[in-house]
Parts: sequence; structure tokens; C-alpha cells
Amino acid sequence: MTRVDDLPVRAELRGQSPYGAPQLDVPVRLNTNENPYPLPEPLVARIAERVAEAARGLNRYPDRDAVELRAGLARYLTRTAGHPVGVEQVWAANGSNEVIQQLLQTFGGPGRTAIGFEPSYSMHALISRGTGTGWISGPRGDDFTIDVAAATREIAERAPDVVFVCSPNNPTGTAVAAETVLALHEAAMAAGPSMVVVDEAYGEFSHRPSLLPLIDGRPNLVLTRTMSKAFGAAGLRLGYLAADPAVVDAVQLVRLPYHLSSITQATALAALEHTDTLLGYVEQLKAERDRLVAELTAIGYEVTASDANFVQFGRFADSHAAWQALLDRGVLVRDNGVPGRLRVTAGTPAENDAFLDAARTVFKEQQSRPPRTEHRTEESV
Ligand SMILES: *Cc1c(COP(=O)(O)O)cnc(C)c1O
Repeated sequence: MTRVDDLPVRAELRGQSPYGAPQLDVPVRLNTNENPYPLPEPLVARIAERVAEAARGLNRYPDRDAVELRAGLARYLTRTAGHPVGVEQVWAANGSNEVIQQLLQTFGGPGRTAIGFEPSYSMHALISRGTGTGWISGPRGDDFTIDVAAATREIAERAPDVVFVCSPNNPTGTAVAAETVLALHEAAMAAGPSMVVVDEAYGEFSHRPSLLPLIDGRPNLVLTRTMSKAFGAAGLRLGYLAADPAVVDAVQLVRLPYHLSSITQATALAALEHTDTLLGYVEQLKAERDRLVAELTAIGYEVTASDANFVQFGRFADSHAAWQALLDRGVLVRDNGVPGRLRVTAGTPAENDAFLDAARTVFKEQQSRPPRTEHRTEESV
């Protein structure tokens, strides 16, 4: 059998494994930060209508610049993130992962580097590798916040071309203060100048206002968002960025022609028509997230404050054994490889109840067992 490494693949891809959370068929799946609520029926009907309309024109290429959709996203940001954004400041692609890829193709690439403060979203490192961009693993404090002094020192010393700031951070749930982003941006401008990419995939779930206003007057600062989490549309594949119009012009140098299908554009436009209903689900999930934090703390777990739709909890002498013990009770959570911690996504109230019951039992079992040495998994975040 021919293996990947038998083929003349690029040296940096040899021996690597692809991104992927293990999907297991269990009753309660709280491992991939998806929104547990299916799209409401009126929205499903509206998608069918708009897709039918788009289907009649499928003999033609889609709107290459997705102007109607970008205008809709600009209106959404203006309304919900409290800062006016124009269509010329917004760019959309197939998931924010593609947006990040386009940013790295534009501002990273061979001979260039990107930095992230880990543990953080592992795709920042993986897409860097895929685009030939060198990866620098920057530091994070013991409480999972970004240590500004250590981070700015790293930027000054290594002069990365792209700086990733994930806020709220996956997998820890930690929000990043605007002052921290400004300090990192200042360091990046002094060392580079380079680009700062703020990944706000979980922005809608935060207790804090969006970092969107920071793009004003800072052409090197980019904010990315997605419809995968708050809009409950992970299957749609729609991500976007907001930045200076020059950034939007720049990424067009690397995007594939007609990268965003007419079907995707039509579906995303239908979803935007139902923003208020979808943001209603976000409010329910925020309440459930806060309940998970409170109840896990009451059980006795050490819980990381969360601004996202998931919660990091521990500590476990052996997090993999704890992950397995929860799985044995029908609950799938995520082992992100953060020593002693696991991550649970806020699901429906019933799913969260099932998880909390299992977590209570596992905690009691832990108390009655002598500690083992930590088994650190290689699984990606
Ligand atoms: C889920 C997630 C994304 C979303 O990626 P899509 O390609 O839009 O589905 C982006 N960034 C972070 C930090 C995420 O957790």
C-alpha cells in the first residue's frame, strides 16, 4: 500500500496528521463547539427559496466579489458589534479557516513566520504550515491569559509577519482585553510592521464588547468572524473578515476566482435575514455556559472563566482517563492536549444536565482514587 510519505510531498508535511476531532456515536456530543440548535424552520424554508432562485442562475459563475453578502455582513457587524463598517471593509470565504488561509497566503508564506499564544486554536499553526509559513509558539500565562510583557518581548525578538490573537480563545474561553491587543499591535508595528489577526469566532458569546472598533485607523489589524458558531451554521462554511479596505484588496490577490458559490452566498443571505432569532439562541447558550461554569465550580472543579460557548475545566491527574470516564457515561467532550484540562461545549439544557451528572460522578471517583501521572495527548486543539 502506498503511504503519504512514499509520495513526493513537501518536507514539512511528512509525518504530519490532518486536523480532526474524533467523532464518536454517543448520546451527548459536546466536543466541537457547534451550536446545538438546528436552524429554525422558517429559516430553512427561506434558504430553500433563495437557493432555488440561485439554482436558476447556476449556468453562470457566482458574483465573484459577493457584494450583496458582504454588504449584509457589514450591516450585521455595524448593528451588533457597535461600530460602523462598510462593504469595502468586509471580505467573505468558505469558513473563517479559508479567510485565515488567504491572509497567510497574502502576508505569510515561505521565508515568513506567524505567531500564536498557546494553547490556542490549532488551525492557526496548521494553516501556517500549509502555506509554508514558519510557526512560532508564543507564551500564555498560567491562568491562560496573554502575558503582555512576555508576548511583546517575543514579538520584538522574533519579528513575526503575522500575529494571531484568538479572543475569546479556543480552547480556554479566555477573552483578550482591548489594551492587550493594542500592546501587541504596537509591538508588531515596531518589529515588522506585520499584520495582527484577531480571531473572534466566538465574539457573539462574549461578556465583553467586540474588538471590531480597533480596526479603525489600523490597516494592519484584521478581525475574523464566522457563521459556524453563533449562527449555528457550521455546515454552511461561511467566514468573513473586517479590516481596512486595503486588506480586502490584498486578499483578492490570492483568492481563487469564484471561490464562494452562489448557493453559499444565497444561504448566508437567508441566514442574515433571521439574525434576531439566531441571536436569541446565542443568549440561551450564554446562560447555559454561565450555568456550566457555576455548577462545575460547585462540584469542585477548577474552571477557567469563559467568554465562549464552551468551558475548560479540570484539574485532572490524568485528563485522558477523565475524558474516557465521561465517554463511558455517554458524554463526549474534548481533550485538547492541555495538561490536566478538558473542554465541554455548551449544549441544550438537557445535554448539559447529562454532562453535569456524569461530571459529578467522575469527580467523586477522582477523589477516591490516588493520583496518576499525566498522559499528554498529541491531539490537536
Ligand atoms: C470554530 C473556529 C473557527 C471557525 O472556523 P470556520 O472555518 O469558520 O468553521 C475559527 N476560529 C476559531 C478559534 C474557532 O474555534
